[in-house]
Amino acid sequence: MARILVLGGTDLANAFVEALQTAHPDLEIVLSLAGRTRSPKLPDCTIRTGGFGGAEGLAAYLRDEGITALVDATHPYAAQISANAAKAALEAGTPCLHLVRPAWEQAPGDNWHHARDYEEAAGSLDALSQTHPLTVFLTVGRQGLEPFHYLMNCIHVVRSVEQPDEAELPPGARVVLARGPFREADEEAFLKENEIDVIVSKNSGGTATYGKILAARTLRMPVVMVERPPLPEGEIVEDAGSALNWVDTVL
Ligand code: NAP
Repeated sequence: MARILVLGGTDLANAFVEALQTAHPDLEIVLSLAGRTRSPKLPDCTIRTGGFGGAEGLAAYLRDEGITALVDATHPYAAQISANAAKAALEAGTPCLHLVRPAWEQAPGDNWHHARDYEEAAGSLDALSQTHPLTVFLTVGRQGLEPFHYLMNCIHVVRSVEQPDEAELPPGARVVLARGPFREADEEAFLKENEIDVIVSKNSGGTATYGKILAARTLRMPVVMVERPPLPEGEIVEDAGSALNWVDTVL
């Protein structure tokens, strides 16, 4: 029986697994998670959790488990695992596809400040807060917070699915626990209630977290947009339907 390994941790991976199950009920699908989230939403398939031990570990897994094809449907900012996937697939001779949502495009009314990474985003906030203090809505996830620890003239509101450890948070940050999707109207109310001056966001793509970008457009609020890390070379598609077509070609 053909076995597909899907590297997940995203809504898109879950949607792809469900579509694959419907299209190919005979396939064995293994969904792999890093194990960072304590109670993830998951489709009904075989789940494995935890790292593989780098590209070499993943290559060994592909060989040992007889994986027919690998679909990397991890988040666009999970650069390490995507690079490992490309390398491991090459080593093991396993067909590999990267399934990545298209990035959001800047639209009229958007006031984006582009940052190459979290350090540059913090530098942008530092510059913006020179003349007056800023309340910053930080929506970059728990792992990207360190560069924001040293901003003297910013108050941070951090939104996260799970409570970050105290050490991960910028000093004095207020935490709001919430899981998307987030609607535009609710985001606009949130930004107003919390007197947010500027948002820091990843360019995640998709609709689940786009509400804050739409709300910022309406409120003419600046958004410091952290650019995506580059993807490894290889086959790339942007939606679950195209990934299904790719699976058909490799089975
Ligand atoms: P990362 O920096 O690219 O990966 C770090 C290490 O975590 C990898 O080298 C691998 O360990 C392990 N890993 C990551 N994803 C895995 C998976 N799906 N299955 C098994 N092992 C995995 O990743 P990250 O940015 O920490 O993200 C971790 C997970 O959260 C990803 O699966 C991603 O889809 C999800 N996620 C990330 C973000 C984000 O903004 N980064 C947002 C939403 C969801 P080994 O080297 O030991 O194999």
